[in-house]
Amino acid sequence: MKSTLCRSCGSDQLTLIHDFGPQPLAGNFPAVPHAEASVDRYPLDLTQCRVCTLLQVTNVPPIEAVFHDDYRYASSTVPDLVRHFVGYADFLAKRLPPGARILEFGSNDGVLLAQLHALGFTALGVDASDNVAAMGRQRGLDIRTGFMTVDLLDRENLLGQFDLVTCSNVFAHIDDIGATVAAVRAALKPDGLFAIEVHDGELLAREAQFDTIYHEHLTYFTEASLRHFLEHHGFEFVSCDRTPMHGGGLRFVARLSDAAHSYDAPASGLISSDAFGATIERCAADIRKLIAEHGPVQGYGAAGRSQMFINMTNTADCFDRVFDDSPLRRGRYIVGTDIPIVPFTAEDRGGACVILAWNYAGSISRLINGRFGVIATVLPEYREW
Ligand SMILES: [Zn+2]
Repeated sequence: MKSTLCRSCGSDQLTLIHDFGPQPLAGNFPAVPHAEASVDRYPLDLTQCRVCTLLQVTNVPPIEAVFHDDYRYASSTVPDLVRHFVGYADFLAKRLPPGARILEFGSNDGVLLAQLHALGFTALGVDASDNVAAMGRQRGLDIRTGFMTVDLLDRENLLGQFDLVTCSNVFAHIDDIGATVAAVRAALKPDGLFAIEVHDGELLAREAQFDTIYHEHLTYFTEASLRHFLEHHGFEFVSCDRTPMHGGGLRFVARLSDAAHSYDAPASGLISSDAFGATIERCAADIRKLIAEHGPVQGYGAAGRSQMFINMTNTADCFDRVFDDSPLRRGRYIVGTDIPIVPFTAEDRGGACVILAWNYAGSISRLINGRFGVIATVLPEYREW
């Protein structure tokens, strides 16, 4: 399915920034190598709305291919992410009355909900993937399975009850963001807050972070385009902070408002050139140079971005294996390749190690320090650790 209208403002003024060709789904971690069973690929392109500047992917794969009961991502298994959410819970606590009621959608296995509970809040989650929601329920958290819609809130008796609704790196997964923000409004008490964390679209474009672009990430907001979107949907700006999450994020807080806002387009932020193609070529050359100079190359971190990196740079033949510590991914394969995902052990040494999960390079490099001939990240630029 291909959308032809901007998800934020509805305009048809979409300009192609880069065509990535047919790519597999970043969230698919196959149980067998590509040689035994090929995976589906879908066209992937990045476009920008010339009216509101929102960056977006227009090709939408079938929703059942994206959200399913084999979702291989549990936030609580990523130590840096847990630290991020401890900090986020403290940030929210400073803006809320004691005992406030909080709803998080896309709550995954409840990594933030658990922190909010520890701070004395009543926190409830909604998540579309039942297997990760069930992990949270096993820890005693209240997580409902479903998409964030007015229907779901009505069915679960959750309308108009919350002091704050939040979501972290979830908004990008949603096709109909207008319907979702309507559900946020319906969940909130008058004057309630909506706190949202998204990848920083401005940084993504400036650094040509191609490995962040995948079918499951449909939109990339900048501060200006997010502000205009939310004001258009009945919110007023409270604050916007930058976070290091996932290579650069925005933490945006808005308050429910009765004031009507016209849709004022951001004055700047249009991308005039495509830096993605050149960056992909440079990264592929970096990987081949590492093989020539240091022998076998291994990857560290089997994240969605790692899968896109290897597929977009056509370097599947370069990687012997990819290390990952998540029990949900061990024993799986990098999508569209025969590269196994294995746990890192103390015996692993030699050759080159490329930290594909470069947003966690600091903690990963400390973990594997001295084990390889060279430890490198290639995004956002080449760096040895
Ligand atoms: Zn637009």
